[in-house]
Amino acid sequence: MDFHFSPQEEAFRQEIQSWLATNMPPSYAADAFEERSAEDRFDIHLAWQKQLHAGNWVGIHWPKAYGGRGATILEQVIYAEEMGRVHAPGIANALGVMLVGPTLIHWGSEEQKQRFIPKILSAEEIWCQGYSEPGSGSDLASLQTRAVKDGDFFVINGQKVWTSYAHRADWCILLTRTDPTAPKHQGITYLLVNMRTPGITVRPLVQVTGDAEFNEVFFEDVRVPKANILGELNRGWQVAVTTLMFERANIGMGFQLEPVMRQLIGLSKRVPHYNGTVAWEDESVRQRLVQLLIEVQALKYNGYRNLTRQLHGSPPGPEGSLAKLAGSELNVRIAQLAMELLGPYSQLALGSPYALDSGKWSRRALSSRLMTIAGGTSEIQRGIIGDRVLGMPKG
Ligand SMILES: Cc1cc2nc3c(=O)[nH]c(=O)nc-3n(C[C@H](O)[C@H](O)[C@H](O)COP(=O)(O)OP(=O)(O)OC[C@H]3O[C@@H](n4cnc5c(N)ncnc54)[C@H](O)[C@@H]3O)c2cc1C
Repeated sequence: MDFHFSPQEEAFRQEIQSWLATNMPPSYAADAFEERSAEDRFDIHLAWQKQLHAGNWVGIHWPKAYGGRGATILEQVIYAEEMGRVHAPGIANALGVMLVGPTLIHWGSEEQKQRFIPKILSAEEIWCQGYSEPGSGSDLASLQTRAVKDGDFFVINGQKVWTSYAHRADWCILLTRTDPTAPKHQGITYLLVNMRTPGITVRPLVQVTGDAEFNEVFFEDVRVPKANILGELNRGWQVAVTTLMFERANIGMGFQLEPVMRQLIGLSKRVPHYNGTVAWEDESVRQRLVQLLIEVQALKYNGYRNLTRQLHGSPPGPEGSLAKLAGSELNVRIAQLAMELLGPYSQLALGSPYALDSGKWSRRALSSRLMTIAGGTSEIQRGIIGDRVLGMPKG
């Protein structure tokens, strides 16, 4: 494998570097606002996405016809490296850009693509994902939210849960049961639902971090036009799986752990250890830091490998589960080492005047657990890897 970049790719790097140098306010660097509330972070992500969009830097991997740059794999790699280098914040419409847009490009009618896609990149319309229900998480196909035909509409009744940013969303990709008599994977329809439709109630749920980023969403006689089916009636499971593949591959790729490791190494050089030393002076601490750095690099190169499949026009495959599993668990271990290094200081919560780094490591330790559950739990990813990547017999 040749890791050198061509002159054109180096020019692309220069272009993004100089755009970032001119356009990214230093206060936006993700580590500079890690101490803020989820709502403040969302607002910054929204402003940042609009700024990126003005420079045509959102969804660069999307085809040019849909507002992307049709970026090559190596350009995507360079983009990710440069965003990571300046520790740029995320974008507000992450679900829209990473999951909904690519799913629409793959399954949508031309009319749907024209209607929805431009406003995803510009963050004019924020999307949420209505998959999980109180009784259907890992076993998603058992979902019960009903959609019943009524003329040119479906009437929806049911409940979703853990719906991230539903309280800020304009639209939702919603999985509904349209044929309760069919086998569970065959009676599901994938709908595009306007969150302002009468009958939708959103109730925030507080997470272990104290933030309320996800919600319960209730549907009572909600009328959705039939034109908003994505794919075909009762064949929504195939569409739902496409979205899940994009989700897992993106969660895996999204772990920007190099900047976090830089911060952790910085912490190890400040945190008191024993006999007046700091942690960095202890060889065993340095070995653990290096081991994590090695795993961060392995994750990065495995992520690049996954991109190859998408370059050939296919949605990501089950190997996205490898990146999701490895990235989310590595993220937990990095946060755990920070807790160990902090010792008693790790007990101090975000915002405590006595905490090191304002207590952001404690919040990181709590929030790192979330991504081992969201997008399919680690156990589910292990099952997919065994079954569909390694071809092992079902247990
Ligand atoms: C931060 C966060 C954001 C989320 N955002 C969204 C969102 O925007 N939209 C959305 O629809 N959902 C969202 N979710 C929900 C998420 O997809 C589900 O929580 C997840 O799929 C697990 O489902 P569950 O919570 O019902 O747990 P369950 O499925 O009830 O699982 C409970 C436990 O049993 C284990 N288990 C279950 N089945 C198996 C099996 N077959 N083999 C081995 N172990 C098994 C699980 O690993 C887990 O440990 C989010 C979750 C989190 C944490």
